[in-house]
Amino acid sequence: MELFNRCPEEERWRSLPSWGPEPPAPSGHSWRSLMGRALRLARRAARRGEVPVGALVVDASGRILAEAHNETECSRDPTAHAEVLALRRAALAAGNHRLGGCVLVVTLEPCLMCTGAIRESRVSGVVFGASDARAGAVMSCLEGLDYAQTGSAPWSYGGVEAEKCAAVLTAFFREKRPQ
Ligand SMILES: [Zn+2]
Repeated sequence: MELFNRCPEEERWRSLPSWGPEPPAPSGHSWRSLMGRALRLARRAARRGEVPVGALVVDASGRILAEAHNETECSRDPTAHAEVLALRRAALAAGNHRLGGCVLVVTLEPCLMCTGAIRESRVSGVVFGASDARAGAVMSCLEGLDYAQTGSAPWSYGGVEAEKCAAVLTAFFREKRPQ
C-alpha cells in the first residue's frame, strides 16, 4: 500500500489538488486570502529558525480569533505546533475551550498530535495547504480526524495555495540540509 512506503524527503511536502466541494468561507474572506495570512505566519517562522508552518482560527462571523506559527525551537516545546498554539489562543480569546463554528486554517496537513487537538477543540472544519506524505494525519498517512467514535469529526479541505505552502517548507529544509 502506497501509504506505508517511505517517501523521499524531497517529495515529502506535496501540493495535491483540493478535493470535493469547497466549503463556504467565513463572511468577508476567501480560503485563499486566509491561507495567504497563514503563509505570512509560516514565513515569519522560517525567519526565526522555526519549521515554517502557520495557522489561524476564524469564527463563523469572519473574526480571526488567533494566529500562530510553530514555536518548538524557541519554546523548547515539542508540542508547540502552529495548530496547537492557534487553538489554545483562540479558546482563550473566545473564553471557551470549545470552538464550535470555527475553522482552523493551516499551511500544512496536521500531524497526529494536532488532529487530536483539533478534535478536542470541536472546531467545525480544517482547511490546509500542502500535504505531508510522511506525517500527515488527515489523509496522507492516517485519517486522524475520523478515528474517534465520539462527537462528530470536523470536515477537512486541503490543497489551498498548496504549492506556495509546500515551497516554503522545501526551501527551509533545503537551506538547513548540508550540501
Ligand atoms: Zn502537529
